[in-house]
Amino acid sequence: MYEPVIGLEIHLAMKTKSKMFCACPADSFGQEANSSTCPVCLGLPGSLPTINYEAIEKALMFSLALNCQVPDITQFHRKNYYYPDSPYNYQISQFDKPVGEHGFIDLSNGRKIGITRCHVENDAGRSVHPAYANYSLVDLNRAGAPLIEMVTEPDLRDPEDAREFLQKVRAIAQALGVSDANPEEGKMRADVNVSVRLPGEPFGTKVEVKNLNSFKSVQRSLEHEIKRQSRILEDGGSIKQATLGWDEGGQKTYLMRTKEEAADYRYFPEPDLPPMQIGQNWLEAIKAKTPELPDLKLARYLAAGIREYDAQILAFDHQLASFLDEVLKHYSEDAQAVANWLNGDITGYLNAEAKPLQTTSLSPEALAKLLKLIDTNTISGKIAKDILPELMQGADPEKLIAERGLSQVTDSSEIEALIESVLAENPELVERVKANPKAINALLGQVMKASKGKANPEIVRSALSKKLAI
Ligand code: ADP
Ligand code: ZN
Ligand code: MG
Repeated sequence: MYEPVIGLEIHLAMKTKSKMFCACPADSFGQEANSSTCPVCLGLPGSLPTINYEAIEKALMFSLALNCQVPDITQFHRKNYYYPDSPYNYQISQFDKPVGEHGFIDLSNGRKIGITRCHVENDAGRSVHPAYANYSLVDLNRAGAPLIEMVTEPDLRDPEDAREFLQKVRAIAQALGVSDANPEEGKMRADVNVSVRLPGEPFGTKVEVKNLNSFKSVQRSLEHEIKRQSRILEDGGSIKQATLGWDEGGQKTYLMRTKEEAADYRYFPEPDLPPMQIGQNWLEAIKAKTPELPDLKLARYLAAGIREYDAQILAFDHQLASFLDEVLKHYSEDAQAVANWLNGDITGYLNAEAKPLQTTSLSPEALAKLLKLIDTNTISGKIAKDILPELMQGADPEKLIAERGLSQVTDSSEIEALIESVLAENPELVERVKANPKAINALLGQVMKASKGKANPEIVRSALSKKLAI
């Protein structure tokens, strides 16, 4: 049985006000093509880049969060290559003095994944291929936008590890506000490197699959490559080092280029930008303003009494975690109950509607109120679940319950009356329950139904038991 060896290269679009080396807006999503440009990011002769301080600070914060060592000096290099949607004949990137090296992320299975390096560079523009024409267009709005590239050691051992790793990177980037890290908008892109070997043998020859823009395609392309490479080796063949693309429709990889054609980038120090000295004071200031990291959230959730399984899901989903924290400000009685709602019915609703939480109108206060209404027996759990879709659309649970008369019936005379009529209508069932008290749930169900789900089941149960003397 062959074992996969996997390393990732991840690009994150940084969330800064301006581009990496000019004052144009970093995020021009939805803007008119080429409107967010200037002489610097258009690469016009005579223009000079300047370093975006905010971007460096965010990249340093991210590096520290990934447990990287930050060198005393960080520097930009020119990486020389031609690309039709990049107006320079080079990319301004980092080479031997990146913002971070030798970091790691721990996976939930205890595996430590080494991070080789983290560096800053600028993005390219986009080529647009209009369906109506036999030519292509170039949109340079994204040219010069700040990117973080991070490279892992070949420490991942299965596609599921790779998925969890990406999820953790996304959660860290979002928690720090370093990147929106959403693959759907191209703000997180991954290249995967994968080889297979017999356990205990040295690493095999790897291939690289480029430009994967969803966690699912990372996982699928890895599964595909592991099978393909294992089959070749089983048949006595050998793997050729190559760069592949991923065919989403066909769910298979295809050859882009073999390694013989690999580029020599002729890196040299960027003459238009000075090296930067990173003082201890700066690093201390960055650490001091670093928001709570997902690992710390996880510890906090466990301490608050949330089970490991739920705490993992919540801590590493930035939207859910932020929401949970808001709910806990208003309702701290039972953190596990909040977790159950978030990971259960609310996630179910979001999946069914294919919506992220922040696009709904559910407020943390509303969920806190709902939980209190259940705790005080004002409504049953069943009613709470029934009204959730309306809460997701912004309804206030207290108002809704008052308007609809959904409060639980706890008044014993009312419950007595319900029981009387159910017993009168079901004489056979009554005899059965008398003979076998375990069948009481059938009667309980009838009374609950008669109350339209509003009777308090505990009160009904004890009243029924008393009445039937069981
Ligand atoms: P290259 O010189 O081809 O860029 P690197 O050594 O810089 O290769 O590694 C690039 C990526 O490939 C890293 O993420 C690394 O972890 C991964 N990698 C390196 N060797 C292997 C291997 N044998 N199998 C799988 N991944 C590997
Ligand atoms: Zn610009
Ligand atoms: Mg490399």
